[in-house]
Amino acid sequence: MKVPICTFDAKTGVLCPKCESRLKNGELSDVDVECSIKLIKLSHKNQDLDKLNLIGSQKIDEDYVLILKDSNVSHINSNDKLVSSVEEEFKGKVWFVEANSSVRRFLENLFFPIRILKTNMIWLPDGNQVTQVTIESKDYEKFISIIEKIKRIVNAVRKIELVVEIAGK
Ligand SMILES: [Zn+2]
Repeated sequence: MKVPICTFDAKTGVLCPKCESRLKNGELSDVDVECSIKLIKLSHKNQDLDKLNLIGSQKIDEDYVLILKDSNVSHINSNDKLVSSVEEEFKGKVWFVEANSSVRRFLENLFFPIRILKTNMIWLPDGNQVTQVTIESKDYEKFISIIEKIKRIVNAVRKIELVVEIAGK
């Protein structure tokens, strides 16, 4: 598994001078270091994690967002055992996102298992652009807090302003 710090540093929990200076100059964050250590620890007993390449991470409230390069996140999300072992180690909700996927795919992974019916780009009168997603109406009430969280993640990771519409409402 690849992480933003040296694998050796992640194993020992101590940063080498090079990673230490990257942390100081802001190239790395404390959350990156924390996530690297936790994931390397898990990757020893989990082959599915071993293939991943973590390039960044964010902490939003108590949730962790892991940004992966060249990964099939839907494959990870559908592996309940993997997700729960990661969340157990992180002691909180963990979101896996793809660094280089299309906006549509990025959103689909975050909204899973809520189905996205369509996405639109909308230009506001002030010149700003928002992305509108239309989701299935079924059971959406129980997802309201998750939807609010997704909006913040999308904004933090991709700088996208998200508007969520419920189909048929
Ligand atoms: Zn290092």
